[in-house]
This record gives sequence, structure tokens and C-alpha cells, in this order.
Amino acid sequence: MKPEHRHSDRRSPYVFDVHEVGRRAGSMKEFDVTLPAPADLVSGLIGVPEDSDVQLHLRLEAVVEGVLATGTADVELSGQCSRCLTDIDGEDTFDFQELYFYPGHEVEEDDKLIVDETVDVEEPLRGAVVLDLPFTPLCREDCLGLCPECGVNLNDDPTHDHADAVDPRWEKLAGLSEDTQNKI
Ligand SMILES: [Zn+2]
Ligand SMILES: [Zn+2]
Repeated sequence: MKPEHRHSDRRSPYVFDVHEVGRRAGSMKEFDVTLPAPADLVSGLIGVPEDSDVQLHLRLEAVVEGVLATGTADVELSGQCSRCLTDIDGEDTFDFQELYFYPGHEVEEDDKLIVDETVDVEEPLRGAVVLDLPFTPLCREDCLGLCPECGVNLNDDPTHDHADAVDPRWEKLAGLSEDTQNKI
């Protein structure tokens, strides 16, 4: 029989062959690979830039019902502080684990199956990243945010206050002068 390449149309780098893992419970295979981050690995204001390097350590282990995938992914993060809107760049590590059942196993709706002796770990990785990313990312824990009155970044100017706030009646006049605008 000719070997089949049924995945040729979807060469996701996150699809791993479990053939070599074998079926004897306890046998395993480990991978250390650098993969391009998939698109939309994002939660609100922060996420993993598409195609940035994902360092994936993956262990595929035969268990009675199927193959257990245990992964650790080191990723780059890029986003915006939810208080002051400054760009944030960083790195983080996410762990995931997923059991893929052998074909023929009776499965629930959310259970994953081994398909053509492969497992696709993109979804569990995505689940771990999106779930763990902070809903309100901060550039630093004590970020002061923006001035609610004028929008200036209070981290840059912590003593900033509006003691001599512009009288709204004068604002129009001030706006007429180019010079004043440039100073603001
Ligand atoms: Zn901030
Ligand atoms: Zn202000």
C-alpha cells in the first residue's frame, strides 16, 4: 500500500506523529522544537506575535486510552498596558496537557482523537496561552496610568497636577496660538 500523505493540505507544524511513540503504556517520545506562532494567539490587549518563535518542549507518552501530550512553550509577548497604553514586550512560559484517544474510543464532545497517527497540539497550546494571559496587562504592577483630565502618561510625570488648570473659557483662545499648542 502506498503511504498516504493526508496532511499535505494542512502542514501545521503543530501536528506531531505519534507512530513512534508506540502503544505500550509508558513509552514516550520527546521533542524540542522552535515553531512559528500561529495567528490570533491573542487575548485582548496582549498576545504572541504571529510567526514569532515558539520554543516548544513536548512529551508524547503512551497511556492506556491513547497518547498524553505534555507541553511547555516559551513564547514572546507583545501588547499594550491596559492603564497607560504603553507598548509591552516580554516573554512567558505556558504549560498544557491533553489526552488524545485512540480511534474507536468512545469520546465526549470535547475529547480529542489521534487522527492518522498524529496529534494536533495547537488547540491545547492556544487554550493555555489565551486562558493564562492577563485580562488587564500592565507595563508594571504600580502603573499610574493616564491623567483622566489631559491624558498625559503619569508614569513619565508623576508630580503632574492640574492646580493651575486652564480655565475652559481660555482654552479656545489658547488654541488659537500655534505656539501654545506646540508646548502642550
Ligand atoms: Zn502602564
Ligand atoms: Zn493631566
